[in-house]
Amino acid sequence: MSDHKSSIIDSHCHIVFSTFDEDREKVAQRWRSQGVKALLHACVEPSEIPAIKLLADQFQEMRYSVGVHPLDPHHWEDDTLEILKKAALEDKRVVAIGELGLDLFKADNLREQLSILMPQLNLAFELNLPVIVHCRDAAKEMLEVFSKLSKDGCCPKGVMHCWSGNPEEMRGFLDLGFYISFSGNVTFKNAVDIHKCAKEVPSNRVLVETDSPFLSPVPHRGKRNEPSFVKHVVAKISELRGESFSEIAEKSTQNARELFGLP
Ligand SMILES: [Zn+2]
Repeated sequence: MSDHKSSIIDSHCHIVFSTFDEDREKVAQRWRSQGVKALLHACVEPSEIPAIKLLADQFQEMRYSVGVHPLDPHHWEDDTLEILKKAALEDKRVVAIGELGLDLFKADNLREQLSILMPQLNLAFELNLPVIVHCRDAAKEMLEVFSKLSKDGCCPKGVMHCWSGNPEEMRGFLDLGFYISFSGNVTFKNAVDIHKCAKEVPSNRVLVETDSPFLSPVPHRGKRNEPSFVKHVVAKISELRGESFSEIAEKSTQNARELFGLP
């Protein structure tokens, strides 16, 4: 972890949350000093978009997504799809649709979640934008959705964010062309399946993220997460794979740039 000259991209964070209101500039100074050259800000529902846009004005290295989280179906209105489409078309800094997906860990309303997922996946395909996928305890259902779209020739590309599945599930998403993004939970001692996945994932498909303010990596576990901590994710993956810190930083940066068309 000594290599602070490496460039890193935090491919998923939520800096807009009020937990950063007191010290956002200091947080930015820290990510800059730790080599975080770009950040992708995820969106959980459309009312966040104006504030995220202002953050992208404030922090030049920030890009963002627009979308509705599977646990926020109550934020889906008749005009939501139009709002997302307009937001994506009017600002080049919108580089993905999401975060979207399925979460059967915290909820069991699969049908409702699918009803807001499908139009977003179709929008992403239409606009040729990648999707940021939140998938928790729902790999089987999510793979079914993507497999069907893929057979019909209209599956968007994308990333499985905050990967928490097992190697078999990961192979399913890799086969469909998806990238795998690791977050703070890869640093947890008991995360055996995630460790296996980090060892196995092809180096041209790996991304790193913090999901700030959630899921702080060791040694900050339990505290507020922030983008500068992404180095701990990189360090853990390099340890697991027996590759250098700079190799993982470079590869994941290159992959994030390819997927999201970042400069
Ligand atoms: Zn998120």
